[in-house]
Amino acid sequence: MRQFYKNVKVDTETLQFCAECEICGRIEYGLKVPFLCRSIKTLARCEKGKANKICRSLYNRAKANSTQIIAIKMNQCKRCHSWVCDNCFISEDEYGACTGCRKNVSEV
Ligand SMILES: [Zn+2]
Ligand SMILES: [Zn+2]
Repeated sequence: MRQFYKNVKVDTETLQFCAECEICGRIEYGLKVPFLCRSIKTLARCEKGKANKICRSLYNRAKANSTQIIAIKMNQCKRCHSWVCDNCFISEDEYGACTGCRKNVSEV
């Protein structure tokens, strides 16, 4: 989960936390950025952990919650450990692999 937390970014258009499928680029969204953190300046500071205490804690909490929300919608490949969407994940594969890894395996 910690590794995935780093993949969660803010979409500056919708102001939602989001993460991208590492194969097809599909974006899954989590929560909105807290109201207090929405200005471009504050957002940049929040991302660097340099905002004031209130903004920082709001931001971090929203990001942590979003990470959980998004992680439910996505799958981690057990082979290459990338996070992919349902379309790029083969759930019937007993090891749980993304389509990228599956392709490599079948080509061998
Ligand atoms: Zn995908
Ligand atoms: Zn994989």
